[in-house]
Amino acid sequence: MLVVEDDAQIARALLVNLRARGYRTYHAADGRHALQLAADEHPDLVLLDLGLPDLDGSEVIDGIRGWSTVPIIVVSARHESHSKVDALDRGADDFVTKPFAMDELLARLRAALRRNAPETGHAVVVTGDQRVRIDLSARSVSVDGELVRLTRLEWRLLEALARAPHRLIGRSELLRTVWGPEYGEESNYLRVYISQLRTKLEADPANPEYIRTELGMGYRFTP
Ligand code: CA
Repeated sequence: MLVVEDDAQIARALLVNLRARGYRTYHAADGRHALQLAADEHPDLVLLDLGLPDLDGSEVIDGIRGWSTVPIIVVSARHESHSKVDALDRGADDFVTKPFAMDELLARLRAALRRNAPETGHAVVVTGDQRVRIDLSARSVSVDGELVRLTRLEWRLLEALARAPHRLIGRSELLRTVWGPEYGEESNYLRVYISQLRTKLEADPANPEYIRTELGMGYRFTP
């Protein structure tokens, strides 16, 4: 969970409460750091203060929504209805006004996590031939029952593909999802990492069955 809040006291209160409930948390005190952490850590939820020292919170929403559907709950003192509507229009999922009751915030947060759960789909993806088993919750992959070691980027790439089986995922979308929002043109990165994944997963990496190339467009995971 990513907490974006420049007020140190509020940030501390949020982090203490969230950590006490077992949530893994990251903290950003400004918008740029928030975008960086969102890209690097792929949090399952973002709590976002709209009034930040560098970027406007709405720019942070735009930046994240460019490549991610992670739930965003805006937590802000700006209770004017226009900023609330603007945040929701830009893709925020919910809005909590400061000062907030911690119990209410936690309830909203659980609701947002529940709503988002179906999108992440089956936690385990197994290929039709039963050779490859990808456990999205445990972040592990095995081939013929043997665990396969993946680098962080290899895993992210496989995860992005496995979460959308049979869908053609464009190169720039994959680059933004795996490498971050500032990427999009670096098709050579994809070629290198897709090739590494095929070497580790495919029975015949030269004739891949699971990770297919759609020439000129992107890739498709066909388990
Ligand atoms: Ca603030």
